[in-house]
Amino acid sequence: MSSTLQIINPSTEQPVATVAMADVSETDRVIERAAKAAPDWRRVSPADRARLLRRFAEVVDSHNEELARLEVANAGHTIGNARWEANNVRDVLHYYAGAVERHSGRQIPVAGGVDITFYEPLGVVGIIVPWNFPMPIAGWGLGPALAAGNTVVMKPATLTPLTALRLGELALEAGIPEGVFQVIPGDGATVGQRLVTHEAVRKVCFTGSNAAGRTIMEGCAAQVKRVTLELGGKSANIIFDNADLAKAAASAPYAVFDNAGQDCCARSRLLVQASAYDQFMEYFESAVKAVRVLDPSDEASEMGPLITAAQRESVLSYVDESQVAFRGSAPDGPGYWMAPTVLESTSRTERSYHEEIFGPVVSVVRFHDEAEAIAIANEGPYGLSGSIWSRDIGQALRVARGVETGALSVNSNSSVRYNTPFGGFKQSGIGRELGPDALLGFSEEKNVFISTEE
Ligand code: NAD
Repeated sequence: MSSTLQIINPSTEQPVATVAMADVSETDRVIERAAKAAPDWRRVSPADRARLLRRFAEVVDSHNEELARLEVANAGHTIGNARWEANNVRDVLHYYAGAVERHSGRQIPVAGGVDITFYEPLGVVGIIVPWNFPMPIAGWGLGPALAAGNTVVMKPATLTPLTALRLGELALEAGIPEGVFQVIPGDGATVGQRLVTHEAVRKVCFTGSNAAGRTIMEGCAAQVKRVTLELGGKSANIIFDNADLAKAAASAPYAVFDNAGQDCCARSRLLVQASAYDQFMEYFESAVKAVRVLDPSDEASEMGPLITAAQRESVLSYVDESQVAFRGSAPDGPGYWMAPTVLESTSRTERSYHEEIFGPVVSVVRFHDEAEAIAIANEGPYGLSGSIWSRDIGQALRVARGVETGALSVNSNSSVRYNTPFGGFKQSGIGRELGPDALLGFSEEKNVFISTEE
């Protein structure tokens, strides 16, 4: 039996919408529709499929403000971030529209004939999205999956279905055929698990927590189902004493407090060289206190609320057991607000130092030399992202090669670009999204040998 869920605005605690949550039989109907649509979609000529994706991108673009406002209300994202996120969906669709006609196989020299390879679509792809970045993460799976000729069933996070549902409508408006891209809200144990267990779903593309990721991988193993996992992180922002300390400190708050720290790439461990520690912390304190934590619909807002009261409780539990160095500010009144919080860790044993908190909290630690910086950065099970601030480019590159993470930036904190690969080392995930090769993750490579012997 289907149920409904009331969606709450995290900055006002007021209801925004009521959404029907699918049950297993509804999920089966949606998957079967996707399976039925798959043969026709793969037969659409490459140029026409590219044209449809471009048109979808244009329709998303013309609804940027509407999508952004929806995300502000549903997820508490700042309006500036939410506009960027809707633009990111547009850009991903445009980028992969350009990939459809370039997704070519190879001709391989062999004896006795001609050998060619083809990239075939998988069929139905299930995309399971978390609540922290509902639009971008939807787009990262959707764009390359459709471009490679698959049909998509998307399950948005239970808490944040609104923009995904709207994207589903916009796809139809753009002329993407019925059944090619469907969005089905529901909970993980019901709809998400059905994507894992239904035999017609050939791949699950999952972004979320490590606990759910492990369950999904185990479930996929039963059918040797393809799976991509984008999981948690506890990334390091490494500041060397020769860096532009003022610039590194001015940018460090946004590397962890953006999206209220609910970011898998959050640089939630700040590693500062001991010789520059005091100077850096002085700059950093001013920068943290200047972060504008405001109503997310205010154009000046740089950080909004946490997603739920329970998330805030969980984040605060880490702070309660740690040594707070200083805090920024946050509004009072309704909403799941929390001030950006800076912790100092001397022992690196606190729970707050080694667990993913997923809130506006950073732990600062000292290191003495390059080798120690790399060793500290590599502590723990995660390896998703990170930054290195140094004016010595040789040093920056040595450290970049030494740190076991998938997406690093030097003298910058930007980790995600639609045109470069993204994904984790170690327990931060399996597989890569985005970048020039993303279609390979949504294709099977087929080899055909043609004899030329008489
Ligand atoms: P979550 O694991 O609770 O949920 C993610 C999605 O999976 C939701 O749609 C949920 O309904 C569904 N789900 C949950 N259990 C499931 C199950 N057993 N079977 C199938 N589906 C299931 O994660 P969340 O709290 O929504 O997101 C936060 C986590 O996501 C953090 O750990 C964060 O680091 C991670 N994340 C990773 C990336 C990345 O790219 N590596 C990006 C964003 C978020």
